[in-house]
Formats: sequence, structure tokens, C-alpha cells
Amino acid sequence: MSGREVGGAADVCVVGLGPTGRALAHRAAVAGMRVVAVDPRPDRLWGPTYSCWVDELPKWLDHGAIASRIEAPVVWTDAEHRIQRPYCVLSKQGLRDALPLDDARVVTGRARTVEAHRVELADGSEVRAATVFDTRGQAAPGSRRTASAHGIFVDEDTAAPMVRPGEGLLLDWRPENGAGPDEPPSFLYAVPLGDGTVIFEETSLGLRGGMPQHELRRRTVNRLAAHGIRLRGDEPTEAAHYPLDAAVPKAGRGQVIPFGSRGGMMHPITGYCVADSLALVDTALEAVARGADPIEALWPWQARAVHWMRMRGVYGLGRLTTPQSLAMFDAFFTRPPRQQRALLSAHDDYTALGTALFMTVATTWPFRWRYDLVGWTNRNRWVDWDYGLPRLPETSAHN
Ligand SMILES: Cc1cc2nc3c(=O)[nH]c(=O)nc-3n(C[C@H](O)[C@H](O)[C@H](O)COP(=O)(O)OP(=O)(O)OC[C@H]3O[C@@H](n4cnc5c(N)ncnc54)[C@H](O)[C@@H]3O)c2cc1C
Repeated sequence: MSGREVGGAADVCVVGLGPTGRALAHRAAVAGMRVVAVDPRPDRLWGPTYSCWVDELPKWLDHGAIASRIEAPVVWTDAEHRIQRPYCVLSKQGLRDALPLDDARVVTGRARTVEAHRVELADGSEVRAATVFDTRGQAAPGSRRTASAHGIFVDEDTAAPMVRPGEGLLLDWRPENGAGPDEPPSFLYAVPLGDGTVIFEETSLGLRGGMPQHELRRRTVNRLAAHGIRLRGDEPTEAAHYPLDAAVPKAGRGQVIPFGSRGGMMHPITGYCVADSLALVDTALEAVARGADPIEALWPWQARAVHWMRMRGVYGLGRLTTPQSLAMFDAFFTRPPRQQRALLSAHDDYTALGTALFMTVATTWPFRWRYDLVGWTNRNRWVDWDYGLPRLPETSAHN
């Protein structure tokens, strides 16, 4: 059955206007394609605060999208590592403004069926297009490997004992969150947002099913208290809970093209996806323009090898204790810059990534901990861990 057609005949239909879908729709329109974009709330500002390495952003993106820049973010293990690579927090409004959709047809609606050349909306109308990109994001993780975070927005003056303007804590593994060495690990991420606030976000990566918000909040409050930072208790917050282990799509013409977090572009270890997806938008669209398979263009074997190795990485990460995580990150952050990049961001630098992983495992001490990293021992260490009920009222850790 054929429904009422909206949007006219399109070259490209983009289903989902998160950051990756909006970037696709924007660049397709800039390339002169007829674009229809579908989202139930196309004008909504995105919820999460997105960050990335500055050098990951594509050249075409207006740098007005950057809200805050950190020249040398810090990683704390047993020692302080200053990473000589500029990092940035993106402005929600700035990123949106940098991806205008004036030349695309934007349809407000929820897709019910997404097919290779046809998208049916919940109201029964449909869009037809030569190519359909699926950028609807990901489903809830269930018991999969998960990124969980609880972020508290604190004003700059209050945050100053831990994070000053222009500085940022990428991974803070100092033993200040109140969790013992035999509890599932988490670290603090804290960066200035460029609007007078700093986000303090306790984060766990790779645990199956993730870590509950109340536990992450308790740990964040403990860390702040360790630095004499008092919260009022009514500070705004953000929550993250999403899967890290999405598979890469199979190549093959004549199918819907999954893109962004929907299309395997979620980095299995860092939980980042925005900058890499933005950087890959033109690769996908160039393939469309020359009649090639975008999935093949996006995912050559080198990129698939990188994804495969990162998946091994997240499996390893999810079974480590806090002391093991510290030792492993200590080993990793002494690798040369190219190897660090290969793990943290590069899409297809498989030789450097292979070396980085091998050397990280080989230089993690004591020796027996390597068995956990590669999964010979303690494979399911934190599975079904009982976090109990919330233990502390909002701000009592520092009262
Ligand atoms: C708190 C938090 C912090 C994060 N920090 C970072 C970070 O610093 N850096 C980073 O790279 N990533 C970060 N992430 C991960 C981030 O969420 C993803 O990288 C990013 O949102 C993926 O973008 P996307 O466009 O693929 O999907 P989404 O952002 O999930 O967008 C999906 C879009 O599809 C639309 N949609 C859904 N269903 C339908 C439908 N049926 N029909 C039409 N439209 C539909 C939705 O309305 C939405 O607009 C963070 C996540 C959270 C929660």
C-alpha cells in the first residue's frame, strides 16, 4: 500500500536529526542533492554535551561550533599525564548553527518503516528517495557493554579547586570517588563548557549493563568533596547510558545505509561518535554521488580491523579492577602520540592501533594482570554486580 507522499522525489532521505544525521543532511544539500530529513522534533537542541579532539573535526565545519578549547587535557593515573593534543567541547547551539538545513526539506514526524528507497512515517505518509540513511541513534543497551555517566554542572568559581578555565580532566583515576578496589571502576571527566560552567562527570566504560546513576552521582560528590567543593544539591545534571558494542554494518548495494551511532560509528572504548561521523559524512556522500556503496566506502577492511580491535579493548576494559585500570592507562598514555591517536580517534590506522594494544598489554604490570586484559581470567568479573540502593543523600558527602 502506498501512503501520501511528502517531500517530493529526493536524492537522499536522512531519518533522524541528531548531530550525525543533521551533518549528513546539511552536507548533502551543500553538495546539491535534493534532501528530505525526518525527525519527530527537528528543532530540539541536542541533550548531551559533545566533546572531541579538535583535529578530528572536518575542515568544512565552522569553528564557531567549538564552545571551549583545552590545549593539553590531563589524565590522572598514579601520576599526572598532560596530553599535548587540543581537545574541545562543542556548543549545542553552535554545532546546530554550523549545520544549517535551509536547502533541505525537513519533515516533522517519526519513521515507522525505513526501507532502501522508502520511509513510511507514523501518520501514514511516506518519503521516497534514491538513497536512505538511517541515523536514528541506538536502542537502550540492556546488558550490553555500556557507557554510563552522571554529569553535574557546576559554576566556574566553585569548580576552580579542580578545574580552571582552559584546563580539563579527561580521565581522573585518582582514588577519591569512595569506591574500593574491589568495586567496579569509574573515573571522573571534568571540562569547562565555555558558558561559565564546568561539568563533573563520573563515567564508567565497558561494564555490561553499565553503572546506575545513583552510584555515579555518589562517586562524583565524593570526588568533589575530596577537593573541598561543596554542592548546593540543585545543580543541573545530565545522564548517559548507551551501548558501546554496536556492530559494523555489512556492505552491499540496495539497502538502507546506517550512519552515525546507528551505523557502528560509536567508538567502542571512548563512547564518542560525533566527530568521527562528521568527518565521514563526505565519504558517504561522495560514494552516493558516484553510484558506489557508501557502506563499503565508510568501512574498508582497515576500518573494520580497527573496530574489531577496539571491541577487544572494550571487552578488556569492562573486566578490570580500578588498580588494573590505572596500570593499563598508565601504560597506554606513555605510548607515542600516533599510537594514542590510533586508539582514541583514528578511523583506520590499524597498524598503529595493533601496536598500541599489544604494547599496552605487554607493559602493564604486574604480569598476571595481562590475563584479565586479554580475557583468560576474570572474564565476567562485574557481571550482575549489586550496587544496592542509593546510599547517601544528595550532598551529604561533604557536609
Ligand atoms: C550525556 C552524554 C554525553 C555524551 N558525550 C559525548 C561526547 O562528548 N562525544 C561524543 O562523540 N559522543 C558523546 N555521547 C554519545 C552521543 O550520544 C552520540 O555520540 C551521539 O548522540 C550520536 O549521534 P547520532 O546522530 O548518531 O544519534 P542521536 O544523537 O541518538 O540522534 C538520533 C536522532 O534520531 C531521531 N529519531 C529516533 N527515532 C526516530 C524515528 N523513528 N524517526 C525519525 N527520527 C528518529 C531522534 O529524535 C534523534 O534526533 C554522549 C552521550 C550522552 C548521553
